[in-house]
Amino acid sequence: MYDVIIIGGGVVGCAVARELSRYRCKTLLLEKTNDICNGQSKANTAILHGGYDAKPGTLKAKFNVLGNAMFDRLHEELDVPVQWNTSLVVSFQEDGHPMLEKLLQQGIDNGCRGELRIIDREELRRREPNIGSTACEALLVGAGGIVCPYELTVAYAENAAMNGAEFQRNAEVTEVKKLANGNWLVVSSIGSFETRAVVNAAGVYSDVFNNMVSENKIHIHPRRGEYYILDKKYKNVFHAAMFQLPTKMGKGILIAPTVDGTVLVGPTAEDIEDKQDTRTTAEGLAKALREASKTWEHIPTRGFITTFSGLRSTGDTGDFLLGEAEDAPGFFNCCAIESPGLTSSPAIADWTAKQIAGKLALETNPDFNPIRKSIPKFRELDDAQRAALIAENPDFGKIVCRCETVTEAEIREAIRRPVGALDVDGVKRRTRAGMGRCQAGFCTPRTVEILAEELGISPLEVTKFGGKSYLLDGYLFEEGKNHA
Ligand SMILES: Cc1cc2nc3c(=O)[nH]c(=O)nc-3n(C[C@H](O)[C@H](O)[C@H](O)COP(=O)(O)OP(=O)(O)OC[C@H]3O[C@@H](n4cnc5c(N)ncnc54)[C@H](O)[C@@H]3O)c2cc1C
Repeated sequence: MYDVIIIGGGVVGCAVARELSRYRCKTLLLEKTNDICNGQSKANTAILHGGYDAKPGTLKAKFNVLGNAMFDRLHEELDVPVQWNTSLVVSFQEDGHPMLEKLLQQGIDNGCRGELRIIDREELRRREPNIGSTACEALLVGAGGIVCPYELTVAYAENAAMNGAEFQRNAEVTEVKKLANGNWLVVSSIGSFETRAVVNAAGVYSDVFNNMVSENKIHIHPRRGEYYILDKKYKNVFHAAMFQLPTKMGKGILIAPTVDGTVLVGPTAEDIEDKQDTRTTAEGLAKALREASKTWEHIPTRGFITTFSGLRSTGDTGDFLLGEAEDAPGFFNCCAIESPGLTSSPAIADWTAKQIAGKLALETNPDFNPIRKSIPKFRELDDAQRAALIAENPDFGKIVCRCETVTEAEIREAIRRPVGALDVDGVKRRTRAGMGRCQAGFCTPRTVEILAEELGISPLEVTKFGGKSYLLDGYLFEEGKNHA
């Protein structure tokens, strides 16, 4: 019997798990894929939005501003990289000033912290000399920042697990039922569990669970955003996250530096039907490039190292849908969490956990420890620090990923940690092995060997992202065809 079962191990589910671990609360998080952070939480622009974009009075506006203000503490507690590099919303049209004024006023009304003002062409050019020639003026958002979305999600989960929360991956929830005793039965691919409360954090699938238990039906559709990633060589071309004026489909196409030094170009915004269709398309990428070229004329396309896409959980109201369902006591929604969901995640989690704690009369957990240390990042250390690590553990002297300078020790630790990596992509998200210029061409074989050793399985069984995504002779493991 659990106090709370969370459906979905994205940034929201994992943040809620961490907040609940502040209480004496038996929590289980069920994630259907082979790892946490496998939905939109791994495929976004990674911006800490300042809070100027959402309509005043909405949950998006409230939780964006509250969440943004929590990231310095998260950086301290969870050792997650956060950079306050500012955001610039650039107008490329002479008549764009009223829109910038509107965004400025929204930011003020929303309580956006830090510097917030419109800057003229000269100041914009002084700050960002590589800005396109048609740039007119911009809104400067001092509270704009960037974060690593995978490390944030993993850090929430690791810290929650350290504090007692349980995580199960490859655990697809298929049904949620109210029991006669007032509790809930959560039916999943790994078994059925009784719980006092449920948190619905299933991303694009969160409408399915809400609609299973509530008469207040909702509809979440996927809105795909496609991106290019540019090599680290271009990390200094822009300092700030470079937005264009927003449209009714979202915040528009950006050029956004990442905390790891690569540069994102995108995302597009296309409403689609299929909740699993994370393809990139020639048309989508061409659109991203065309529109981004206003911000950065002559984008060096030879510098693109890969492409990806993410699916926003877009609801019908334009706002987040949060809180206990009116007609389903004990069932708490975290639905329609599209952008700024990453930024809002700590505030949504804090609020949701407090709601649940009140409902279930949970006591504070006196042993809660908010501190989680990240895996040492060999690439960021000086020679003396590197030598000290190697002296302690010789595996730090073995470079597995040459592009990102990731060592064998980091990979082994990523697998051994609570809620550790189970596949090659899980190692990649926790260490950056395979995220560099060669896109895992060099390091995959050794990563497969290490995963096999650490997990006690054959290298043939190691997958890229779970399921049947075997890296070695995959057909051997197809159902009923095991010729090994
Ligand atoms: C293109 C794009 C750009 C964005 N840019 C930003 C940005 O710059 N800044 C920002 O603040 N926000 C941004 N966002 C929004 C942010 O990424 C999301 O709001 C956030 O990741 C939502 O997290 P989540 O946990 O709700 O969803 P997800 O990360 O999608 O997690 C849901 C999880 O539920 C699991 N699940 C689904 N069904 C089941 C089931 N039946 N059983 C068990 N598990 C299940 C899924 O596998 C998944 O892991 C962006 C989003 C996109 C797509």
